[in-house]
Amino acid sequence: MAISMPKPSGEILGRRAAIVEALRSIVPGEGVVDATNEMRVFETDALTAYRQLPLVVVLPETVAQVAAILSYCREHRIPVVPRGSGTSLSGGSLPLEDGVLLVLSRFNRILEVDLDNRCAVVQPGVTNLGITRAVEHAGFYYAPDPSSQIACSIGGNIAENSGGVHCLKYGLTTNNVLGIEFVTMEGEVIRLGGKHLDSEGYDLLGLMTGSEGLLGVVTEVTVRILQAPETARAVLIGFPTSEQAGECVAAIIAKGIIPGGMEMMDRPAIHAAEAFVHAGYPLDVEALLIVELDGPKAEVDHLLAEVEAIATANGATTARVSQSDEERMSFWAGRKAAFPAVGRISPDYLCMDGTIPRKELPRVLAGMKALSHKYGLGVANVFHAGDGNLHPLILYDASKHDELQRAEDFGADILRLCVSVGGVLTGEHGVGIEKRDLMTEMFDEDDLKHQIRVKCAFDDRHLLNPGKVFPVLHRCAELGRLHVHRGQLPFPELPRF
Ligand SMILES: Cc1cc2nc3c(=O)[nH]c(=O)nc-3n(C[C@H](O)[C@H](O)[C@H](O)COP(=O)(O)OP(=O)(O)OC[C@H]3O[C@@H](n4cnc5c(N)ncnc54)[C@H](O)[C@@H]3O)c2cc1C
Repeated sequence: MAISMPKPSGEILGRRAAIVEALRSIVPGEGVVDATNEMRVFETDALTAYRQLPLVVVLPETVAQVAAILSYCREHRIPVVPRGSGTSLSGGSLPLEDGVLLVLSRFNRILEVDLDNRCAVVQPGVTNLGITRAVEHAGFYYAPDPSSQIACSIGGNIAENSGGVHCLKYGLTTNNVLGIEFVTMEGEVIRLGGKHLDSEGYDLLGLMTGSEGLLGVVTEVTVRILQAPETARAVLIGFPTSEQAGECVAAIIAKGIIPGGMEMMDRPAIHAAEAFVHAGYPLDVEALLIVELDGPKAEVDHLLAEVEAIATANGATTARVSQSDEERMSFWAGRKAAFPAVGRISPDYLCMDGTIPRKELPRVLAGMKALSHKYGLGVANVFHAGDGNLHPLILYDASKHDELQRAEDFGADILRLCVSVGGVLTGEHGVGIEKRDLMTEMFDEDDLKHQIRVKCAFDDRHLLNPGKVFPVLHRCAELGRLHVHRGQLPFPELPRF
């Protein structure tokens, strides 16, 4: 494991039997899992290079149980890692050896569908796609659509501020969540927002969205649902170079057209996806754009013609418009299956997640090519092109000496490149453990201290998801005045990694 985690507390490990017993008194029946073989399924998330068995797994069913677990853990100073479906690509739900893994998957009920107010109230363990399934009979859907939507939970989406193909036009999770209920580490139940559009005071809902399980445990969610568009059609556009595809993306947006989705794949990703799902992608191009227009039929037809004209002006060699909904869905099937498709051509891959200003795409692609040579590792690229959100998939073989380390170094250099052109470390997958040690590339010490102060306001003992997001763990009392006298570090018991 190249990334170091906080050293487990021998004292907590020694109390394991008592902790398990206490949790069983809070969650009776099968809600506490402590057998090693049964905990194996929880030892990793989708950042599978990292594995760790938790101290114990607990699966509560009620908000009162969540509150009791958190206040017990706070009182006894036991770390807690919240977990939804475990599809995080940044290691956000990686367990801790001395921590309780708090799994929300039994919170799986749709509580209310309120068509009059165009919203749904759901428990956090409901899958992203489960929300659309619950409202589609009435012609509605939930817009943010991560490619993992069949599995990932809405609680996890909130913690990561997840995005997807449709977020260019309809916004990320943060733009589609109206309210939440969450439980603090002290066991207090707090409600933010609701069915109404805005709330008074600080935007605490915005703060919680994207907080990566560090501030509280989400136990209920109210989301906006949208009416399905009258028509949606997609066009597949092939280019001889990625640079031309990038120019085309910029030109479409500059023209004032906001497609429902605009995704890009490079040659390795196109070939992998086509071999996997036979979506009908052209194989003689270097880059492929999938552009979807949605809305009233006349508007969609008009915009499609405009997009095709822009594509031709930017050197497109092929353009194929979907003629049926089945064909449109098959265009997307390739893109949505791009990650598993790449999994078929390489024993392992690391999925990166940087975001850049759109116009920097050609520069970053050229830089990535040079890094690929430097590290001797292949890379396949899929992008949420309209958002400037890149997902380079670095191909490696974990069984080969030092390849994981090389892949991680390659990935870190890609993210440094994104930051250097005015971008950011993450577009939607979160920092987790994966990008934790790169936070200093974006933020100076003062920035980080201010962010940690926010953490302290919610969790003064740093028990919620420690080891994630922040490269250095401070204790709240220590913030801003670390004074080492005659080599004696204050708070020596604090893990520093
Ligand atoms: C094949 C694949 C494709 C993907 N595609 C996309 C994509 O297109 N867009 C995208 O944005 N992401 C994508 N992801 C990443 C992932 O699916 C998202 O980050 C998702 O939101 C994680 O949800 P989860 O329920 O699995 O959360 P988990 O992995 O269980 O947890 C993720 C984080 O959320 C916290 N958390 C979970 N539940 C709660 C809760 N109730 N309260 C507080 N904190 C909580 C955890 O502590 C952790 O920090 C993809 C992943 C895979 C494997």
